[in-house]
Amino acid sequence: MEKVVIIGTGCAGLTAALYTARANLTPLVLTGKQPGGLLTTTSIVENFPGFPEGVDGYELVTRMQKQAERFGARVQFAMLDSADLSKRPFTLVVDGEKVETQTLIIATGAGHRHLGLESEHKLENKGVTYCATCDGALPMFRNQPLVVVGGGDSACEEALYLTRFASVVYLIHRRDTLRASKIMSDRALAHPKIKPIWDSAVTEVLDVKQDKVTGVRVKNLKTNAETVVDCAGVFVAIGHVPATDVFKGALAMDDAGYLIRKDVANTDIPGVFVAGDCSDRVYRQAITAAGMGCAAAIEAERFLEAMSQ
Ligand code: NAP
Repeated sequence: MEKVVIIGTGCAGLTAALYTARANLTPLVLTGKQPGGLLTTTSIVENFPGFPEGVDGYELVTRMQKQAERFGARVQFAMLDSADLSKRPFTLVVDGEKVETQTLIIATGAGHRHLGLESEHKLENKGVTYCATCDGALPMFRNQPLVVVGGGDSACEEALYLTRFASVVYLIHRRDTLRASKIMSDRALAHPKIKPIWDSAVTEVLDVKQDKVTGVRVKNLKTNAETVVDCAGVFVAIGHVPATDVFKGALAMDDAGYLIRKDVANTDIPGVFVAGDCSDRVYRQAITAAGMGCAAAIEAERFLEAMSQ
């Protein structure tokens, strides 16, 4: 029987792992399909305190994992298939195996939102991607025009990163102002290689028949005029969806799928705690996820202590 199982190894899960490990609870930490979470797909993280020069996202989570393991956290590359939270101990099915646990910390994070176009789906990994740092340096994108879709911090970050490889980066956004923070917007719009295309939506990724990306069909949402923008790659950066499907019916969630918390970390079910992007539609920062992971760990520790008295 486990005392604590943590689902997710992003900033939230690994901080919860560090705190519960230091409390001698030897947490079992399951990675899910993306070990390290979304932060591993960013390049330089400039707003995590303690790193005045910035830190590589992958390096940051790798260090967090090592720190948690040093105190006894057991990180396992495994997927949660299902969770029965109707009674304690909770019963999880992990890669087909039953695991019983007294407490559960859910830090499953979020995945990339898709445009929802059939052509986008068909050309995924054939020029359509959701991660510039993972794919931007591929030969197929070098010295080519590229498209980034979105207007948030992620879109600006992706566009800026791609300027290293692309001949030009078209930033296609559905409004005429960016949602991104001022520092990121200013940087992106000042870059000579980044060309914004405002008030526009991508309606089709071309060319499914050729089985590769050759351009995008773009509709101006004010005039309805359609144009084709030639490009070799489409980087979709339009936000995220919480990775909470496995808890549907078991835990309360809002209409977008974010798990509902009673306060910082508690859910309606005593012994089940949440942390990070899977339950945060407001801040969604590495540092807030880490803070929530800390809170969830302290709550789990208190819960176990109260149970044993
Ligand atoms: P976001 O802030 O939610 O922005 C998503 C963008 O995509 C918005 O501009 C939105 O348009 C657009 N969008 C959403 N759905 C769309 C659709 N179906 N079609 C076309 N466009 C669509 O997401 P994010 O940029 O991934 O950022 C998430 C969080 O991470 C934020 O809190 C951000 O600050 C943080 N972050 C920070 C950094 C950094 O500080 N360096 C880097 C990356 C992310 P509208 O503007 O019209 O809604």
